[in-house]
Amino acid sequence: MCTILKQMALQIQVHKDELTELDNAIGDGDHGINLARGFGAVQEKLPELESQDIGSILKTVGMTLVSTVGGASGPLYGTAFMKAGAACKGLQELDAESFLKAFEAAIGGIKMRGKSDEGEKTMLDALGPAFRAYAEKAEAGLPLKTALEAAAIAAENGLAHTSEIIATKGRASYLGERSLGHVDPGAASSALMLKVLAENA
Ligand code: ADP
Ligand code: MG
Repeated sequence: MCTILKQMALQIQVHKDELTELDNAIGDGDHGINLARGFGAVQEKLPELESQDIGSILKTVGMTLVSTVGGASGPLYGTAFMKAGAACKGLQELDAESFLKAFEAAIGGIKMRGKSDEGEKTMLDALGPAFRAYAEKAEAGLPLKTALEAAAIAAENGLAHTSEIIATKGRASYLGERSLGHVDPGAASSALMLKVLAENA
């Protein structure tokens, strides 16, 4: 788990400017900066988390993100990781079935915290399709990595689709129709996280 989180922190750092550029277009240009700050803090905590179970690790990641990311995405991603942690309580290994529950809990947490749903041009428009693609594979008995690869592809497609919808949640919603033609930065960071998961599972 810690290896995946380390890769996630690294890739967020690599894509920091790109995410910030996307947020410049329809938000306030801080998404990459926010996430890089948060995942930087997560990375610093990884050595002390190494020996813990997956549930505890994810819970700490969530709390760290809530307290360091700032912006709308901090509490949203923070809640997602905390809910995923609660679903993985006591687990030492992640398999397709346990990740299914964690993924579902994470999305539920974002919807609850954000009072949002799919179709509003947010991270949920990458995560929702990704979850369905994941669930289809996991429920067919395919391994975690295969299911995550399907999720990562669906997230990319979901991300692309966000350019065709009008934002009704978050800062981008202030732009109304002017948000058309731009992809959502949170959907981009979600797609990136799923890509890292698929590549490192
Ligand atoms: P802020 O908008 O406060 O500057 P960020 O730039 O870090 O925060 O994050 C913006 C992203 O957060 C958006 O691109 C969107 O995906 C996501 N977001 C904002 N509000 C919501 C919400 N209510 N539900 C789900 N996602 C949201
Ligand atoms: Mg922003």
